[in-house]
Amino acid sequence: MSTLPENERIDMRWDGWGDPARAHGLPGGVKLLLTAVLGRVPKAPRIPRLADVRISTPPLADADLDALAEAVGEAHVDAGHDVRLLHAGGKSTPDLLRRREAEQVAPGAVVLPGTEGEVAAVLAVAGERGLAVVPFGGGTAVTGGLAPDAGPHRGVVSLDLRRLTGLVAFDDVDQEATFLAGTTAPAAETLLAERGFELGHFPQSFEFATLGGFAAMRSSGQSSAGYGRFDAMVTGLRAVTPTGALDLGRAPGSAAGPDLVRWFLGSEGTFGVTTRLRLRVHPAPEARLFDAWTFRSFAAGADALRRVAQLGTGPTVIRLSDEEETAVSLAQVGSIGRALTRGCSAVVLHEGPADLTPARREATTRVLREAGGEQADAKLAAAWDHGRFKAPYLRDALLAHGVFCETLETATTWSNLHALKAAVTTALARGFAEERAKNRILCHISHVYPTGASLYFTVIAGLGPEPLEPWGRVKSQVNDTIMAAGGTISHHHGVGTDHAPWLEHEIGSAGIRMLRAVQAELDPAGIMNPTALIPRP
Ligand SMILES: Cc1cc2nc3c(=O)[nH]c(=O)nc-3n(C[C@H](O)[C@H](O)[C@H](O)COP(=O)(O)OP(=O)(O)OC[C@H]3O[C@@H](n4cnc5c(N)ncnc54)[C@H](O)[C@@H]3O)c2cc1C
Repeated sequence: MSTLPENERIDMRWDGWGDPARAHGLPGGVKLLLTAVLGRVPKAPRIPRLADVRISTPPLADADLDALAEAVGEAHVDAGHDVRLLHAGGKSTPDLLRRREAEQVAPGAVVLPGTEGEVAAVLAVAGERGLAVVPFGGGTAVTGGLAPDAGPHRGVVSLDLRRLTGLVAFDDVDQEATFLAGTTAPAAETLLAERGFELGHFPQSFEFATLGGFAAMRSSGQSSAGYGRFDAMVTGLRAVTPTGALDLGRAPGSAAGPDLVRWFLGSEGTFGVTTRLRLRVHPAPEARLFDAWTFRSFAAGADALRRVAQLGTGPTVIRLSDEEETAVSLAQVGSIGRALTRGCSAVVLHEGPADLTPARREATTRVLREAGGEQADAKLAAAWDHGRFKAPYLRDALLAHGVFCETLETATTWSNLHALKAAVTTALARGFAEERAKNRILCHISHVYPTGASLYFTVIAGLGPEPLEPWGRVKSQVNDTIMAAGGTISHHHGVGTDHAPWLEHEIGSAGIRMLRAVQAELDPAGIMNPTALIPRP
C-alpha cells in the first residue's frame, strides 16, 4: 500500500476556513464596495480563544474511554478539551458563528481507528455502551452533518478517519484506484500524479476534504462537466456497519438487482463508515485550454451552456455567472474586465490528451458563438483558476468585518431553471427585507447536465451582530421555496441536519421509510450519525 507521511495534513483553522497561515484581512477595495452596498455593519463578536470556550456537553465516562482504548489503542482516543472542539461541527457559516460562542457543544471523545477492523471494534463498543458515532473526514461539511448530537444515546464519539489513508490498489488498464476513505483529496491527487493519473475532483473544499466525505455527501467538483460528480466516479466500496461489512461493486455494469453502491453514496454516515473506495481515474491531462466568454444576459448564457451539455462537446469546466456575480468578480480582478460592464461572464476549460483537446474546444467554441456568446480576455479564466480555492478565506475576512456571507445551492431542469432562480432570489430578498438587512445576492451555474443544471447562490448581508437566528428564518423560507418551485434541496452540499426536515418533501414518505428500513437493518441501535439525513419519526 502507498501512503503519504502521517502528518501530511495541515490542521485547519478551528474558527474559520483553511490553513491558518493563509488567513487574511479584507482587501481595501472590497471594504469600500461593502460600505457602498451594505452601509455600516456592526462589528462581529470577537472569536474566543479555543482554551477559553466552555463545553456544555460532558466528556465520555472513563469506562467508555477505556473500552474505546481497547478497540483502537490508548494513544488514539482523545477526550481533551481542544480536540473535542476541533470536532464540534463543520464549516458552514452558521458553524463558524457558533465557534464565536462562549459555550459550545462538542463530542464526548474523538477516536482515530487505524484499520478497518478497528472501525468495526469502535462501532461494537459504541453499540454496547449506547454511544452515537459521527464519522469525521475532513470536517468541511456545510449542512450540519457533523453536529455532535447524541439523539437518544448517552454521548457522541467522533470517529476521525485521518489514520485510514492511502492508495490500496491501482490498475492502469482498468483505470481504477482503490483508496482508504480518510485520504484527503490533495493526497489522492499526489499519489495518482506519481502514476501519471488523476481523479479530477476539485470542489472548492478540495484542500481539506476526504474521499470518504465526498462519497458520503455525493459531492460535485468544479470539473464535473468532464469527469462527473463524485458519485459517478465510484465503482466500488467497502462499508463497515454496526452489523457487519459489505463489499459492493463487482463489475463495471451489473443487473444483479438494485445498485447497492448507490445506497451508500449520500448516506452521510447513517448506515455505517465507508472505509475504502474504488474510483474511476484518468490519465493526467496533457492539455489545459482556458477560455472566457460573455453573454448579453443570464438567459442567453444558460441557453448556450444547455446546448454544450446536450451536444456533449466535452469541456471539463463550464460555469456561468449571473449579472450580479459577474460585476462582483470583475471588481475583484481589477482592470482585467473593464470592457465588460454589462452581461454575464462564463469560464470554460477543456482538458485531456494533446491531440483530442483542441478539437473539443473548437466544437464548444462554435456552439457558444452560435448561441450569441462573445469570446473575452482569457485572463479572466486564468484569474478564476488562480483564485478558485480562495473564496472561503474571503468569507472569514467578511465575517470578521461583521458581514454575513453564506452559500446555498439547488438544481433543476433547463426548462425550470429561470423560474427557480427567480423564486429563490425573491425569497432571499423578501427574507432579508423582513430582517431589515441590506444584501447582495449572486448566482452562478457550475454543474451542467443534458437535462438541467445547478444553481449556486452566494449571499452577503448586514444581518447584525447575531445573525444565526435571522439567517435560520431566511434559509427556512428559501428551502420551502426551493421545494415549491421544483428544485432539489441540495445538488451537492447534502442533507445533514440542516436540510433533513425537507427530505420527505423531496423523496416522499415511502422514500423516508426505505431509508429507515435499511438503517434499521444495518444499524438496529440507530447509533450512526443519529440526527443527520433521515428525519426522525
Ligand atoms: C468552503 C467550502 C467549499 C465547499 N465546496 C464544495 C464544492 O465545491 N462541492 C461540494 O460538493 N461540496 C463542497 N463543500 C462541502 C463539503 O466540502 C463536502 O460536502 C465534502 O464532501 C465533505 O467532505 P469531508 O471529508 O470534509 O467530510 P466531513 O465534513 O468530515 O463529513 C461530511 C459528512 O459525511 C460523513 N462522513 C465523512 N466521512 C465518512 C465516511 N468515511 N463514511 C461515512 N460517513 C462519512 C460525516 O459524518 C458527515 O455527515 C464545501 C465546503 C466548504 C466549507
